[in-house]
Amino acid sequence: MSVYHWQPASNQRHVLRGPRRRYGDEETATALCDEVVVVASDDNGLARFWASCEKCWEAAKEIDMSATQRG
Ligand SMILES: [Zn+2]
Repeated sequence: MSVYHWQPASNQRHVLRGPRRRYGDEETATALCDEVVVVASDDNGLARFWASCEKCWEAAKEIDMSATQRG
């Protein structure tokens, strides 16, 4: 089971904790970068072209590293 997932939100792709799930319209979540982001709806066709949040990228990398160390 994945401990995080990439999710388009607030005009960037952020990392959210937990497995991927469906979000409601205008639902907010706290990303790994500590920003509270507004999740993009699944039918937003442009969301996939948004850039990745750099802070989330770094945070996700650290999660992966600690998971590797434990394993
Ligand atoms: Zn972020």
